[in-house]
Amino acid sequence: MIRKFFGKLFGKTAQPKIIAFKNHRISPDLISPAAQKVCETLQQHGFAAYLVGGAVRDLLLGREPKDFDVATGARPEQVRGIFRRSRIIGRRFRLVHVMIGAETIEVSTFRGNAVDADDSVQSTDEHGRILRDNVFGTVEEDARRRDFTINAMFYDPVRQEVLDYHDGVADIKARRLRMIGDPLQRYREDPIRMVRAIRFAAACGLEIEPRARKPIRTLGGLLQNVPKARVFDEIMKLLLSGNAVDGVRRLRKEGLHHGTLPLLDVILEQPLGERFVMLALANTDVRINAGKTVSPGFLFAALLWHEVLAAWKQAQARGMHLMPALFEAMDQVLQVQSEQLAIPRRYGGDMKEIWALQARFENRTGRRPFQLLEHLKFRAAYDFLLLRCESGELDGEIAEWWKKFSGTDEAARAEMLLKDSAPGPAKRRRRRRRHKPGEASTGESAES
Ligand code: ATP
Ligand code: MG
Repeated sequence: MIRKFFGKLFGKTAQPKIIAFKNHRISPDLISPAAQKVCETLQQHGFAAYLVGGAVRDLLLGREPKDFDVATGARPEQVRGIFRRSRIIGRRFRLVHVMIGAETIEVSTFRGNAVDADDSVQSTDEHGRILRDNVFGTVEEDARRRDFTINAMFYDPVRQEVLDYHDGVADIKARRLRMIGDPLQRYREDPIRMVRAIRFAAACGLEIEPRARKPIRTLGGLLQNVPKARVFDEIMKLLLSGNAVDGVRRLRKEGLHHGTLPLLDVILEQPLGERFVMLALANTDVRINAGKTVSPGFLFAALLWHEVLAAWKQAQARGMHLMPALFEAMDQVLQVQSEQLAIPRRYGGDMKEIWALQARFENRTGRRPFQLLEHLKFRAAYDFLLLRCESGELDGEIAEWWKKFSGTDEAARAEMLLKDSAPGPAKRRRRRRRHKPGEASTGESAES
């Protein structure tokens, strides 16, 4: 109490632990030369400058950081003035992008917490959520406004020292995820921190401290007040972390899936497609951990496939033909889900192509299989087909056929088609339909 009072009166004077190279062993080789250069240059101009946040955490975990952010005592205009190739971005949250070679380094000025500032009344909503967070501050205040101790360390690449205000280094060693401050208050200020807690625990193999884990079950509903795009971004980071299966399992365990995160409802609440979706996530983890890329379009196509499948069957039951029925189903699912899940429009095209090609795999006669092999999205659609077989939705024979067909030469391909060309009853029916006069064009021809 007294400490708090004096803290308010004189400003907090907590000293950071300074961790020297022999105790952190961060290899200079892992640091981006551009980020190093930005820190050096800012320091030469008399400003404090550190690597900060996720990069320091990852370096201490011995992982290669995805990107390097810099925090500095210089104001945005001062940073802009120092680096010729730089620009100020953001209105509410002014940052500077500094371009060095092919890299862009995000440089932010140390910020304090808006709640501590005089205008705190206007800066939170009725649930305590922070609406404005744009007050410049000291390095120590900047550490305090961050979410977890492991995300609040600063690394000076010139002196090769870690500044640690909240014992993040000890927490990393103990594999513990600890919230800075009171978890209840920090979740109310920004409910997205609940998703982040689970994401970091899964991605870094950490245990969430009980005082930060327990409130999630009761406060989960606050996520409804967070802009959908932010929730979407966090969930995407979780799904593409290389630990999606574990992340999703933990979200479910903490009670965050039901009704709070529509994208997760799709993943976890499907009676039919759960096996398929979990296989898709496991497959995503394997790819990411092998250093391969994963297209978000593929992932979304997988998450929503069983919805499309159900709508496709319904449309066919109403008498629609195969391809038009599929196209109607795709549009229907995309329209509902892209609004509800905030799936960016740009992924819609990829998703549709992967879905539409599923129907084309069924046609194994004539020129069509050759055209399909040439399709830009053949590989993705084929991987999708494999998942469908693996999940038990389809007989593995069809995937085997396509594997053989795509892996052999022209003559053998023709041979495979010939074998297949004696039309069974289903094929005969389809052929007859195709010759019907005045038939609506199929999705297939509309697409090719
Ligand atoms: P990743 O490597 O997955 O991007 P990250 O820690 O870099 O993880 P970002 O979302 O890029 O995560 O955020 C950068 C830093 O900003 C974090 O390390 C943390 O210090 C701070 N931060 C981000 N979001 C919040 C938040 N909601 N509340 C408090 N601090 C946050
Ligand atoms: Mg980051």
